[in-house]
This record gives sequence, structure tokens and C-alpha cells, in this order.
Amino acid sequence: MLRFNDSTHESDLRKAIIECGRICYEKGLLTSNDGNLSIRLDNRRILITPAGISKSRMQPNDLLLIDYDGELLSKFSGGKPSTETPMHLEVYKQRPEVRAVLHAHPIFATVLTVSDHAFPVDMLPEVLLTLGEVPITRYATPSSHDDADAIRELIQNHDALLLRQHGSLTIGKDLEAALTHLERIEHVAEVYWRAQMLGIVKRIPEGDIENLIKLREWYQSGM
Ligand SMILES: [Zn+2]
Repeated sequence: MLRFNDSTHESDLRKAIIECGRICYEKGLLTSNDGNLSIRLDNRRILITPAGISKSRMQPNDLLLIDYDGELLSKFSGGKPSTETPMHLEVYKQRPEVRAVLHAHPIFATVLTVSDHAFPVDMLPEVLLTLGEVPITRYATPSSHDDADAIRELIQNHDALLLRQHGSLTIGKDLEAALTHLERIEHVAEVYWRAQMLGIVKRIPEGDIENLIKLREWYQSGM
């Protein structure tokens, strides 16, 4: 249901956002009114969550249509687009192949940014196989154009970022891809935290790191 393509109808895309928001909330990847989700509909319109709403309790008609300047296109709606709209627009402008943007507040991944730990790219092989480096942005004021500025360079070459003292940003060809990235970084961050508690964090040997990077490049080339 979170997978979609060019022929998926807008009503199903609305359902995909509702479903993804509910999954994120129930898994503790965001809480309260936090987080925001969007889908690129076409080269004119983006479907995005409204500001100030729990992602576990949305209805399809709560979602808003905006253009690439962030202007509201939805008629008869009292809602306002997400306050993080500039960050979503920045992704869509920079990455033409991306159709889904998911901003969440995962606890363990956010703890890394609060405690000044780098994301452990070389601890579990699946990170090197799928995502590679997960950079952490500089601190930026949430709900402002500062967030868009902070991701501008990094989002060009990464599908997952951590926003310092704030949360995560994952993107993909559909919401399934964006959510998979989010689940992965949160899982890795939790394993890292628990390993730190035990006092040892093993790293993947140098030669094996190169093998995993080559495998990722091979997968991504579609061979
Ligand atoms: Zn946020």
C-alpha cells in the first residue's frame, strides 16, 4: 500500500500517507503532532500533511495540495500546510526522481544527534549495503527556511539524514522506500545505544567495508 507508481490514483496516495503516518506513530517514530509526510503528485502539485495534527489520527481529506512555491491549492480547507514545507520542497527541487518525503522524530536516532555521536555506518552490514553514510545536519531552527538551508548540500547525495537535535529525514521513490530507510536508521541507532551500554561497539573490518560498498553499488546499478 505504501508502494506506488506514476499511475497510482490520488485517492490511493492519500491513503498511503495516512497509513504511513499511522505506522510511524505506532512504532514510536514520531509522537504528539510531530513529523510530516508528503508525496510528489506531478510536476505541479505536492500532497502534504497539514500543520498541527497527529499523524495517527488523520483522514484522507486532511491532506493538502500545494504547488512548488508552497502555495495552497486545496479548496475548501481550513488547514495550513506543514510548517516544514520548505524542507520538503527543497528535496523535490533537488531530487527529481524522489516522490516521497518523510520527516520523523525517531527516539534513538535523535539521541545520537543530541549526544554528539556520529551515525554508526560501519557497525551493521545492512547500513553499508543500503544507505551508506547517514550525515547529521548542523542545528537549524525547525519550521523555517533554515531547515531547508541545512539539508541543501547533504540531500543531493543521501536518502537519509539526521537533523541535529530534531529528528530524521528519509526520502525515496515511494513511501515504502522512505519508511524502510527510517526503520533501518532507528534500528541501527538503538543497537548502537544498547551496545554502548555494554561498553563495546564492534566495527566491520576495513576490507569487508569495501566489499559491502561494492555490493551496494552493484545492487543500485540494477545488475
Ligand atoms: Zn520535526
